[in-house]
Amino acid sequence: MPGHAPLHLVMFGRPGSGKSSLAERLGKEFGYQLVRTGEMLRESVRKGDSIGVRLADQLSTGNLVSDELILELLEHNLRPSKESKLLFDGFPRTLGQVSVLERFENSLGFKVDCFLDVAVSREDAVARMTCRRVCPSCGATYHLIAKPPKVDETCDVDGVKLERRKDDAIDVVNYRQKVYDQQTQPVIDHYRVATPALCRAVNGNQAVDAVYRDTVRVLGLG
Ligand code: AMP
Repeated sequence: MPGHAPLHLVMFGRPGSGKSSLAERLGKEFGYQLVRTGEMLRESVRKGDSIGVRLADQLSTGNLVSDELILELLEHNLRPSKESKLLFDGFPRTLGQVSVLERFENSLGFKVDCFLDVAVSREDAVARMTCRRVCPSCGATYHLIAKPPKVDETCDVDGVKLERRKDDAIDVVNYRQKVYDQQTQPVIDHYRVATPALCRAVNGNQAVDAVYRDTVRVLGLG
């Protein structure tokens, strides 16, 4: 472990690993600005902006969108201030996006100094994904066991009835696992070879609080 907590961090984890809730908690506790390409894409669809109209139903299929579109998305949305500590959640997701990240590092003047893998078995991940819910209005995410809303199936923020994400249907869930194994696992393997000193892993097959505690320790934040 380097002698300091990471300044700019990339988190990997298969769909259903709990990575996004973990990222949210780390962001709040330690002041990271979250960079979430999935959320940016859903926001584009909600707003119907120039990127959103090109996506149509693409997000619910489980396929990744093109690297070119991710580049364009980040060009529109990535605006770190000099003081920002960045936490990338869901990017880079393909080997092609490794160079997209490098490009932003160079143009915006930051350097990722930690790659964290939230390692979860495929079986656990699939089981967890069937419990996910999202607010169709504000995009807040919940998990019926790990992070339930205060009122049954209702958003804490705006009282709207929660929904299952379209990409959490069981055949899509299995397909997303396959996409992760084929396209994102090679990205982790790449960083393990290219920058082993920056790579960390936590066992995500544990209760949420235990994963969080391990993560804080592994990252040298606590
Ligand atoms: P997420 O919320 O991160 O699970 O992302 C939801 C969906 O958005 C994914 O299934 C992909 O279709 C798309 N997506 C999000 N981030 C990326 C990315 N970095 N590269 C390609 N597609 C992405």
